[in-house]
Amino acid sequence: MSEQENDPKPSTSNVPDNTPPQADKPKKKKPAPEKIIPTTPIMDASKKRIHPRFVRGKYQNIRLVTMYGFMAIFLIMPWLRWDGHQALLFNVTEPKFFVFGATFMPQDFYFFAFIFIIAAMTLFMVTVYAGRVWCGYVCPQTIYVHLYQHVEKWVLGERNQRMKFEDEPMSAKKLAKKALIHAIWGVFSVITAMTFIALVVGTDYLFFNGNPLFFMGWSKLTWVFFGIITFVTHMNAGYMREHMCVHMCPYGRFQSVMFDKDTLLVSYDYERGEARGARKKGTHPEGMGDCIDCNMCVQVCPTGIDIRDGLQVDCIQCAACIDACNEIMDKVGYPRGLIRYTTERQLVHKEKTKVIGFRIFAYIFVLTVAIATATWVATTRNPLELEIRHDRKQLNTVGRNGLVENSYVLKIVNKTDEKQTYMVKLEAVDGLEIRSRFKELPLKANEAYSMPVSIFGDPSKIKAGHTPITITIYSVDGKYSQSAEDIFIYEPKK
Ligand code: SF4
Ligand code: SF4
Repeated sequence: MSEQENDPKPSTSNVPDNTPPQADKPKKKKPAPEKIIPTTPIMDASKKRIHPRFVRGKYQNIRLVTMYGFMAIFLIMPWLRWDGHQALLFNVTEPKFFVFGATFMPQDFYFFAFIFIIAAMTLFMVTVYAGRVWCGYVCPQTIYVHLYQHVEKWVLGERNQRMKFEDEPMSAKKLAKKALIHAIWGVFSVITAMTFIALVVGTDYLFFNGNPLFFMGWSKLTWVFFGIITFVTHMNAGYMREHMCVHMCPYGRFQSVMFDKDTLLVSYDYERGEARGARKKGTHPEGMGDCIDCNMCVQVCPTGIDIRDGLQVDCIQCAACIDACNEIMDKVGYPRGLIRYTTERQLVHKEKTKVIGFRIFAYIFVLTVAIATATWVATTRNPLELEIRHDRKQLNTVGRNGLVENSYVLKIVNKTDEKQTYMVKLEAVDGLEIRSRFKELPLKANEAYSMPVSIFGDPSKIKAGHTPITITIYSVDGKYSQSAEDIFIYEPKK
């Protein structure tokens, strides 16, 4: 059904005061659906742009707090400081991630795998019990679409004015209004792109790079990414909107298979609402349900669907239709909750929702294991890294002093946020001795250095063949140490 078909009449025409006398005839009641599991969306190229009516109410107030709260956190993130440095910096070119004083190198990225597993499991668990709350309340797509639609409302007016504006022929006035909308959208798109890039290159590089016009100090690559993110944000929030949720978002596509009879979903109470139809104020004609067919639930829907047709994949569970319908119910004097959060078990099967089940225990178990492992990894992580590379080209060299020499390169990484001075020692059998280029090695915060060292073996004291060795790097203040194992090779010439 196109949106125009959904919205042929003014919003309050079915509220009692304006109801024509012949309006008491109810529409034929269709059989109630046996399930509220979503149907598949149909790609409709003829579907007109959706201009939802903005509604106020309990759920929309909660959404405003969650949506714009998360947006504020995103905008503040690059400006947080920790020990004088940017607290969150995801430098993908080096690559090195800084997260509140901790430094993560490529070899630590498995830690982020735990974070992703925890985030994914939490999302799955929430989806099973509370449906698409992520989509409706915190998804960046929902937040940006809401913001950009608010800009249209601010410039053009409420839904009817926006729809009228769209159908108007092009004129200087229309062009000026469109330009104003794009200019405001552009400001938000630019701020979004800068925030993203600041998390990768740092605010110092982006804004305090020594150039009075800070953007003139950016590299070509920075400009490319800035342009791409600005463009994508602008097009996505300005034009793609619900198409992204319905046809492109992978979570939107697979989440419906996670729903079961006990999932909390925004649903229309079919039995109570049907047969729908207009009626005179203060009446409730025989055979009619509570739905006065005012279409308000359709007008406020950001994806343009009619929740009375059953739950659809297009539904992002924003609960705007609940707030709109509750407002109508208040006006006509019927109880609230014709559209409400409920479960299929409650609504269709008239049974009590089962919250505790096997699935919740399975999710809790997996989450507990993942969180415990991530905590263990984070707390036992050594901020000093050592890697030994044995120089295979110079094995078994015998010097003039008669000692056998093996050469190695020690890659040492100081992953703390402070300067450290390190020393090296060898743990091995008698007859082996380590000599390094420096007695003490000072390294700045997050600095890496490859230091050549040699191990000399006295042929009269060591056995031929492979001798295990352990090299230890330790900070002179005794706070950090790291060891790595390798072998010393002595193969006497025959
Ligand atoms: S469900 Fe509620 S908001 Fe929707 S048409 Fe019926 S009365 Fe109006
Ligand atoms: S049907 Fe209701 S809950 Fe679903 S997207 Fe539309 S307004 Fe939001």
